[in-house]
Amino acid sequence: MSLVAVLAEMPDLLERTISEHAPDHLGQCRECRDSSGVSAPWPCMMREMADEASDIRRGGLPGTYGGRHRPLRSVRV
Ligand SMILES: [Zn+2]
Repeated sequence: MSLVAVLAEMPDLLERTISEHAPDHLGQCRECRDSSGVSAPWPCMMREMADEASDIRRGGLPGTYGGRHRPLRSVRV
């Protein structure tokens, strides 16, 4: 099961992820920082996973949601 599918089963966590991973005034993610404190460009990978999980909750098929990080999202849990 993918992490996205897990997230789709956890509406509270999903909602929190979407609200936390929002763009700041520079269009960077407010939540994601690398070790040097640099923000990730928004939408970050977490936000794209959350958006895909939302899509699944609305009836979308897993793996059919496109996004900027699509080729990187082959990690399965
Ligand atoms: Zn983020």
